[in-house]
Amino acid sequence: MLTFMTATRTPGAPVVENGLLISTNPATGGEAGRLPVADPDAVAGAVGKAREAALWWGGLGFDGRRTRLLRWRAGLTQRIEELSQLVHLETGKPEAEAIVEAGTAIEHIDWAARNARRVLGARRVRSRLVLVEHAGHLEYQPYGVVGVIGPWNYPIVTPIGSISGALAAGNAVVFKPSEYTPAVGQWLVDTFAEEVPEQPVLQAVHGLGDVGAALCRAGVGKIAFTGSTATGKKVMAACAETLTPVVIEAGGKDAMIVDSDADVEAAAQAAVWGGMTNAGQTCIGIERVYATAPVYDAFVAALTEKASALRTGEHIGPITMPAQVDVIRRHIDDALQRGGRAVLGGKDAVQPPYVAPTVLLDVPEESAAVREETFGPTLTVTKVADAEEAVQKANAVPYGLGASVFGKANAVPIARRLRTGMVAVNSVLTFVGMAGLPFGGVGDSGFGRIHGDDGLREFARAKAVTVRRAPSLLPTTTFDRTPGQIKQLVRTLKLLYGRRP
Ligand code: NDP
Repeated sequence: MLTFMTATRTPGAPVVENGLLISTNPATGGEAGRLPVADPDAVAGAVGKAREAALWWGGLGFDGRRTRLLRWRAGLTQRIEELSQLVHLETGKPEAEAIVEAGTAIEHIDWAARNARRVLGARRVRSRLVLVEHAGHLEYQPYGVVGVIGPWNYPIVTPIGSISGALAAGNAVVFKPSEYTPAVGQWLVDTFAEEVPEQPVLQAVHGLGDVGAALCRAGVGKIAFTGSTATGKKVMAACAETLTPVVIEAGGKDAMIVDSDADVEAAAQAAVWGGMTNAGQTCIGIERVYATAPVYDAFVAALTEKASALRTGEHIGPITMPAQVDVIRRHIDDALQRGGRAVLGGKDAVQPPYVAPTVLLDVPEESAAVREETFGPTLTVTKVADAEEAVQKANAVPYGLGASVFGKANAVPIARRLRTGMVAVNSVLTFVGMAGLPFGGVGDSGFGRIHGDDGLREFARAKAVTVRRAPSLLPTTTFDRTPGQIKQLVRTLKLLYGRRP
């Protein structure tokens, strides 16, 4: 997404001028932030400084890091209004939505700080009879420096999901915010530095995609990428050159299933918010609904009524990235051309930089609006015979990030059959706020996990140590062993493992 402009500015599109990255408000075009662009040397320099900082930060141990991370959490909480105003300025997102986002991020910092020792700390692993004379020790050691590359749609919680885990695990972090939200990224880094002034444990490097690519090549221990699937592939290719491990949090095409015994009103209310919060620019946003025949009509009526009450500019902010408007328009046009019909919004809904709520019915499954990530306040609703058909259709796309199921008797079994990393039953998006649960996708939605125990382990290497506590009764891993000892080993193995259960 290279955007070099000097004269007229497209509202929302960032500009690079005289070595500065200037972000702008998507609704007004007014300047939101101005940060120096990092060249490859600056990126390498930041990673070098982070390496030093990581030694100090790692040396603090779990308790020292916990105290400092909790201080940062407190600082963010006290200044939550200021942060939300900045997010509103830079992305156009309504302030109330930014507050909710910030609250989720704060929750993750708190959880990671409090749980890192339990999940990653040194522990004994019980020996088995075969090596009973040795003790087993396991601990999870930090990579050193973790590079975090973030998107613009949730500029607080998406990077903090990775940053909180990486820091709690003992790593220093070099963070490349999206070119659309550098000011929010820098604010997070600056507030951390206020609480942890001793070393540059969390730094930001700013610029366009090439700065992210430079970070991939700068010798970091791991890259945590959140963004589109297409860019995720580029990140993985760059990291492959140096065998740098990656966690990829990519796009989604999340489905909601409304089963026959669902609370239809609750499902409609959740679909409106799940599909249209942040103007639909949500990786785990609901984009498709499959409603079973008995509840379909009532669901469509409730959904349309609730969605038509939303106002652009108030509940629905502008589309942050100008180019995304074309994607949304293409999906709506394609759906209508293929025989779909709009019961709300539709062709005229697209009024850049805004897109009004749109509900599309009878859209063929092979159309872009059903298969590709739309990232706008649009929902397709499809009638299905039963939950079985809903599951098949929900699973028939390459993405597999989140999902939602509304129903009673079979909701949990349906949830378990969905090919996704996360599912919310009788709600939407809830899993992102439950800090103890892992967050991540399958297929084109990426791999690896942030949040929860798995998210902490993602930012640490398992280190196994054995310690001899007695001489071996049956020494076999030495050339000094005797044929009799090997015979004894065979007898022991047969005794222990030779019987069929
Ligand atoms: P992009 O993939 O365009 O960008 C993501 C980040 O990668 C940006 O910081 C971008 O920098 C950087 N980047 C671009 N090119 C490269 C490169 N060659 N090497 C390294 N880094 C690069 O995504 P968007 O910002 O458009 O974000 C929206 C996407 O993110 C959606 O698909 C959404 O579903 C997904 N997403 C996934 C989430 C998840 O957890 N699974 C959560 C939130 C969003 P720059 O902006 O400067 O180009």
